[in-house]
Amino acid sequence: MLKVGINGYGTIGKRVADAVAAQPDMTVCGVAKASPDFGADGAVQRDYPLYSAIGDRVETFRAAGYEVAGTSDDLIAESDVIVDAAPGGIGAENLTRYEAAGVPAIVQGKESDDLVDTSFNARANFEDAEGADAVRVVSCNTTGLSRLVAPLEENYGVEKVRATLVRRGGDPDQTGRGPINDILPDPIAVPSHHGPDVNTIFPDLSIDTMGLKVPATLMHMHSLNIELESEPTDQAVHELLAEESRIFVVDEGMAIDGTGKLREFARDRGRPRGDLWENCVWGESINVEGSELYMFQAIHQESDVIPENVDAIRAMAGIAGKEESMALTDEHLGIGLPDPRSVPAPSPTP
Ligand code: NAD
Repeated sequence: MLKVGINGYGTIGKRVADAVAAQPDMTVCGVAKASPDFGADGAVQRDYPLYSAIGDRVETFRAAGYEVAGTSDDLIAESDVIVDAAPGGIGAENLTRYEAAGVPAIVQGKESDDLVDTSFNARANFEDAEGADAVRVVSCNTTGLSRLVAPLEENYGVEKVRATLVRRGGDPDQTGRGPINDILPDPIAVPSHHGPDVNTIFPDLSIDTMGLKVPATLMHMHSLNIELESEPTDQAVHELLAEESRIFVVDEGMAIDGTGKLREFARDRGRPRGDLWENCVWGESINVEGSELYMFQAIHQESDVIPENVDAIRAMAGIAGKEESMALTDEHLGIGLPDPRSVPAPSPTP
C-alpha cells in the first residue's frame, strides 16, 4: 500500500484524501491543516491522522480539542508521496521541503510549471509523470480543456482552439469573495493566461482564451469554438466524446439546462458533496459548421482535478500505467454518468 500524505486539507485536499482512501493500492497516512476549523472534523470522522501544517500551531489544535499526530514535517517523513493542496503559492514554497526530504510531491494548478518536472493531465500526458519527483496537476479549467482537446486532436486534428471561460466568482465556502453582483472581464487583457497553461500539456496547440468572472459558485462554463483539421459530423463528435470516461455528454431529454440542475443531478445520483468529476458537455450544443466545432461544457471546479491527482500519484510511484490507473481511479471513485434511459432495464426474474 502506497502511503499518501495530503498537505492542505481544504476544498481540494479533502476530496483528494477521500479519493485516495477509496483506491485499493494506496492509503491516506495523514492530512495537514493550518487551523482547527470545521474542516478538521472531516479528518476525525474519517480517521485520517491529523497534522498541523504550521509548526507552532500543534497546541492550538489541541486546545480546540483535536488530537494531532505532529507537524507537516512529520507527515512528509511518513509519506511515500505527498499531495500538496495548500493555497496557491504555498505549494511552491513547500516543494523545497519535499525535495529536501526526498519525497515525490504533487502541487496544484496555481503553482508555476517551471518548478516541476511536468504539468499533468491523465488523459493527455500520463507518461510524462512516470517516475517524476515533482508534478503539477493543472487547474480545473485547464484539466477540462485538456480532456476535450485530447480525443479531438487524436481523431480529427486541431487547427485552433478559441475558448471563452465564464468562471465562477468563488467556491461555495469562499464567503470572503462575496456577496457580489457584477460581471468582470478577468483578466481584462486578451488572450488570458489559460491558453498558455493548456500549452504546458499540449505544447504545439494553437489556443486563445478569454476569461470572465460571474457571481456564481457552482461551476465554470466554457463556450468553445474549435477549428478542426477535418469535418466530422455532429453525431461523430457526440459519439467520440461520449466514449471518454471523464466526459459526460448531457442528453437533451434530461432537461438539464444549467449548472444548478447538473449539481442537483449529481446529488440525486448520490455523488459525495454533489461532485461532478467529469466535464459536462451539452450534447445539443455540439455543432460542426464545416471544420468549426462549437459546444458548451461545464466544469465543476472543486472536483474535476481529483481523479487526476490520483492518477498522478500512480504515475510518479510507478505502480500502474495509464490505462490501468485511469480505470482503477474511475472504478473506485465511481466515475461515469450514463443516461439512465440508455441503460437497459434488468430482465424480469423468472
Ligand atoms: P482551500 O483554501 O480550500 O484549502 C487550503 C488548505 O490548506 C486549508 O486546509 C488550509 O488550512 C491549508 N493550509 C494553509 N496554509 C498551509 C500551509 N502553509 N501548508 C499546508 N497547508 C496549508 O484551498 P483549495 O481551494 O483547496 O485550493 C488548494 C489548491 O488547489 C490551490 O493551489 C488552488 O489554486 C488549487 N485548485 C483549487 C480549485 C478550486 O476550485 N478550489 C480548483 C483546482 C485547483
